[in-house]
Amino acid sequence: MIKSSGMAAMLRDIELEVELTRRMIGKDALAPRVMQAMARVPREEFVPVDFHYLAFHNGPVPIGHGQTISQPYIVALMTDLLEPEPTDVILEIGTGSGYQAAILATLVRRVYSTEIVEPLAAEAAERLMRLGYANVEVRHADGYGGWPEHAPYDGIIVTAAAPHIPQPLLDQLKPGGRLVIPVGLPGWAQELKVVEKKPDGGLVTRDVLGVAFVPLTGGHARDRGEA
Ligand code: SAH
Repeated sequence: MIKSSGMAAMLRDIELEVELTRRMIGKDALAPRVMQAMARVPREEFVPVDFHYLAFHNGPVPIGHGQTISQPYIVALMTDLLEPEPTDVILEIGTGSGYQAAILATLVRRVYSTEIVEPLAAEAAERLMRLGYANVEVRHADGYGGWPEHAPYDGIIVTAAAPHIPQPLLDQLKPGGRLVIPVGLPGWAQELKVVEKKPDGGLVTRDVLGVAFVPLTGGHARDRGEA
């Protein structure tokens, strides 16, 4: 009872925030199948026990190692912007709790997800397997370089803020595919961007919304003194 009313409130809050941001995101509602995925995935399973009371709260929640599971509205919006199709193969950078990967797993054929913090990668892989999301593969790796073995991808989603758009991710995107990525430095305004790769390989970038993400860490950031 408590669980289902929490979920109902979460879905209402997402719809409300979509309404509040409709001018920026350019739509009044998210795709029904994205909202169905949000309703179907048990978010409480991805939130640490101590924070279960925040499982359906429309905000980010700590998951340990200084990381967070993104707020439901942002997960839903980024999923919608990716325009996932049932036959798609998607790459995610930043597995975290595995929640975003689980949402995508209900919508597409296969999800590959990389996580730079090893215990988070291990926990998310175990959790996704236990919950039956068999079409997700998690790898402990620095996602800046993507996951070349399974490229090209129909869509790529980055759930940590990058100082710039990583070239390897653009290279690993199929013509006709989309990259959804927050770009900017921590503590500064970050912009959620959608990059579309046209059939001729040309790139069209659109700024969607100001956001606040944890930074994309790893070799590229250390080299430039960015993280
Ligand atoms: N999508 C997650 C939330 C992501 S928080 C969820 O649904 O729970 C961002 C995650 O990106 C963190 O877990 C962080 O460790 C990871 N991350 C940061 N830099 C990374 C990199 N270079 N490669 C892969 N993962 C990275």
